[in-house]
Amino acid sequence: MRIYPSSGPFVPIANRSVFTHLLNEDGNLIGGYDANLPAYIDAVSGTALSRGQVRSLSLSFGYGLRNYGAKRGDTILVFSPNCLAYPVIILGALAAGLRCTLANPAYTAHELALQYTNSHAHLIFTTEEELPTTKAMLKELGVPEEDSAHRVIMLGKSLSWAGGPDAAISSEASELPQWEKLLSLGSLEKEENFDGPLAEETALLCYSSGTTGKPKVVETTHKNIIALLDVGAANYPRDVGSVVLGFLPMYHIYGATSLLFSGQKLGLTVVIQKRFDPISFCSDIQKYKVTTVTVVPPVLVFLSRHPIVEKFDLSTLKMLVSGAAPLGIELSKQVTKRLRSMRASCAVVQGYGMTEIPSAHFLPPSDAERKCGSIGKLYSNLEARLVAGDIDAEEGQPGELWIRGPMVMKGYLNNSDATRDSMTGDGWYKTGDVAIRDSEGYYYIVDRVKELIKYKGYQVPPAELESVLLGHPDIADAAVIGVYDASQATELPRAYVVPVNPDRTKTNGLKASFESEVTKWMVSKVANHKHLRGGVSVIDVIPKSPAGKILRRELRELAKNEIRSR
Ligand code: AMP
Repeated sequence: MRIYPSSGPFVPIANRSVFTHLLNEDGNLIGGYDANLPAYIDAVSGTALSRGQVRSLSLSFGYGLRNYGAKRGDTILVFSPNCLAYPVIILGALAAGLRCTLANPAYTAHELALQYTNSHAHLIFTTEEELPTTKAMLKELGVPEEDSAHRVIMLGKSLSWAGGPDAAISSEASELPQWEKLLSLGSLEKEENFDGPLAEETALLCYSSGTTGKPKVVETTHKNIIALLDVGAANYPRDVGSVVLGFLPMYHIYGATSLLFSGQKLGLTVVIQKRFDPISFCSDIQKYKVTTVTVVPPVLVFLSRHPIVEKFDLSTLKMLVSGAAPLGIELSKQVTKRLRSMRASCAVVQGYGMTEIPSAHFLPPSDAERKCGSIGKLYSNLEARLVAGDIDAEEGQPGELWIRGPMVMKGYLNNSDATRDSMTGDGWYKTGDVAIRDSEGYYYIVDRVKELIKYKGYQVPPAELESVLLGHPDIADAAVIGVYDASQATELPRAYVVPVNPDRTKTNGLKASFESEVTKWMVSKVANHKHLRGGVSVIDVIPKSPAGKILRRELRELAKNEIRSR
C-alpha cells in the first residue's frame, strides 16, 4: 500500500454542532467576527442580513420548527432556488437538531418524490414557483390533501427573500403556512448540543449517484462540515469582509459548503443570486465589488469570450475558484489573460471534491499559474492512495484516487450495500476519478472511471436515465454516456437506444424521427440538466460484458467517431 498523507499542517477538529461552530456568541462577536458584519445579501433587492441577524433569525426559526412538531433527528426538505431565507432555514434547522435534505428546484415531481422518500423527510420548504411540483409529488405519493397542507411551508412572501421583488402571493399559496409564521413564535434559548461523539450525527442529506447506479442520500455529519471548514480556513487565503458572489445552487454540496457555511467561517459576505445569469453575474460583481466567485468551467467559457463581459468593471475580482468538473489549462489561461486586460488581477484556481467528500484538494492563488491544470495538493488531515487494479500505482503513474479522513461522509443513508461498495472497511472512499500526483504533491485529474456524467457541474447519473428510457414503450434497451463539448466546457448526456420494433427505424428518415421523439419524450420526464443534449442514437445492440455490464468505453469511442464523421 502506498499512502500519501497531506503535506499540510494537522488541524484539530472541534466536536460540536455546525451552528455552534459558526455562530457562537461572545459579547459583540458572532463566530469570532463582528455581529454587524453583513453575512448574506440578496443580490436583487440589496436586503442584507448581518451575522447577528442570521444567528437570531436561525434560533427563532429553530424554535418555530420545534413548535410545529419537528423533533431532533427529523428531516426537512428544502425545495427552492437560492434565496436569503435558505441559510436561515438550514442553520435554524441545525440549531433545532434537525437534518436537511436539499433538492434541485428543477426536479420533476417523480424525481422529488424519490429524494423525499429516500431521505425520510417530512416538512417541505418551497416557493410559489415550485409549489405545483411539490403538490404533484405529494399526490404521486398518495398523501391525503389535509395532510399535504401540514407538510408544505411557503418561503418568500415578504422581504424579497425569494430573490425577487415583493410579489403578491397567490391564493393557493397563501392558504398554506408561511415560513415567517415560524419565525414569529419565539426563540430557542440555546441550540441543540452535538458535542463529543454527537458531532458524528448527520446534518445534511444531499443526493449523489456516487460511482455507480442511481442517486443515493449522502449522510454528511456535523463533524464532516466542521472538518472541511477548519481545514479550508487553514489553507484558504482569507480577507475578512471581502465579498463572494453566490449563484451556485445551494442544494448542491459545492454551493452548500462554499456559500452557506464557508463564508460564515471566513468572515465573508455572500451576495446571493437565484441562479447564473450572464448580465447579473457581471453587473453584481461590479455593484457589490465582488472579490471571489466559486464557479464551474462553463462560466469560465463565458468569461473568456462573451463580449458583454467587457462592458462591466470586474477589477475587484481576486479569485475565481472552479470546481465540480474538469477545467482545461487553456481555458484557465484565457480567463486570466482577459481579466488582466480588464485591469483585474485575478487568480483562476481549482477546488476538488464531491458530495461524499465536500472538499479534498485546493490549488491556492500562489500556485495558480505555475501549476495550472492541477487541482492542487491534498487538504490537511487527509490521506490519499492512487489505485490501479488490485495494487497501488507507481509514483507518478495514474490510479483511482482513494481518500481517507474526517471530511469523508458517514455513508449512504439506509444503503449499506452502496456504502460498502464505495468505501473500504478501513475508511477509504473510492472517488471514481483517476489522478496523477507529481513529485511536489500536486494532483491532476486525468480520467473518470465512474459512470457519472457532469453537465455544467450538475450530476447526470446514467443508470437513472437508462431506467427512465426503459420505461418508453418502444425502447427495448438503452445506455447513456457523456460526450465532451469543448465549446461549452462540459459533457453532454447522449443515449443509445435499441427499438422494440426494428421496423420503426429501418430507413434513415424513420431513425431520425424516432431519435427526435425519444429526445422530446425525455424532456417531459427528467429535470432540465438531464436532457439528452448530446443526442440520441439508434443502435442494434448495447455492447455489454458477459456479466451484463454496459461497456461504456466502447460507446464513448463510438460516439467520438459518430461526432467526428458528422
Ligand atoms: P459532485 O458529487 O456532484 O460534487 O461530483 C463530484 C465529481 O465531480 C468528482 O468526483 C469529479 O468527477 C468531478 N469534479 C469535481 N471537482 C473537479 C475538478 N476540480 N476537476 C475535475 N473533476 C472534478
